[in-house]
Amino acid sequence: MYQIIDGKKISQEIKDELREKVTALKGQGKQICLAVIQVGSDPASSVYVGNKKKACAYIGIESLAYELPEETTEQELLDLVQKLNADDGVNGILVQLPLPKQINEEKVIQTIAPEKDVDGFHEKNVGALCVGSKGYVSCTPLGIIQLLKRSGVEIAGKHCVVIGRSNIVGKPMAMLLLRENGTVTVCHSRTQNLKEITRQADILVVAVGKPKFVDDSFIKEGAVVIDVGIHRDENNKLCGDVDFEKAAPHASAITPVPGGVGPMTIAMLMYNCVSSAEQEDQVQ
Ligand code: NAP
Repeated sequence: MYQIIDGKKISQEIKDELREKVTALKGQGKQICLAVIQVGSDPASSVYVGNKKKACAYIGIESLAYELPEETTEQELLDLVQKLNADDGVNGILVQLPLPKQINEEKVIQTIAPEKDVDGFHEKNVGALCVGSKGYVSCTPLGIIQLLKRSGVEIAGKHCVVIGRSNIVGKPMAMLLLRENGTVTVCHSRTQNLKEITRQADILVVAVGKPKFVDDSFIKEGAVVIDVGIHRDENNKLCGDVDFEKAAPHASAITPVPGGVGPMTIAMLMYNCVSSAEQEDQVQ
């Protein structure tokens, strides 16, 4: 029988721990403030931004919402980011992606002051992760490490296979698993004999962005399977990159969608915000 890795429960534990920390910080006169910028009114982005605001309210973090029109120019957005960079009352800045096509996302991300980049996307923070120094780590992979640790999954010495090499999930995931002493293989669209590789994984992280891509034929008996994907299936039901029904009976532990990786992303964003006020190391 497989274990279901419960991201809803674990993220709630983390949020409750953070709430206590924030109360203690407030007792020392420290306030935490996250600025959230959304450009346009993409419905999915509005849901994500709404959830982030809710999490801030629960933990006791002040959130400043900037809702800019779809036709906002790149310069207008850069000016706002610069203004927030210079504002001592703001600890974290988050620009909800994707941005409208007239705006260069990379330029905006690199304009956020690295010490306020709670998404962990700035190249200074990415570089810090690579060399093992202090910095913010991308929230989704950071959350996956917490899911594994808090579910009693040992990473050290395990063969960890990551499908996907995006800057926000696959690459930082690989670096974090390496930091935890896993033996890491990264696969992508040009990988040959994908299943041969994934069938060697003790821990398989799937961030391929294709609904139900991974079934039982990709999985070694008893592997731990982490599903990063979020999609709607043909019946408009949420599903992941893994075909849960087929894969789960072969896994020793697996994350569901919804209720697996998704809730962890926001919990770790809150973690990064609290760290910004505490000026302490990232979760190990
Ligand atoms: P992405 O930028 O589209 O990256 C997908 C990766 O999968 C790429 O590296 C791509 O390889 C690789 N790939 C595509 N087809 C493949 C194939 N046939 N075989 C092997 N590799 C293949 O996606 P992402 O931003 O990393 O996100 C991945 C998924 O996670 C999406 O479903 C997204 O919605 C979800 N997501 C969830 C959360 C959350 O909070 N739960 C957060 C972020 C993302 P190439 O590099 O060669 O193109």
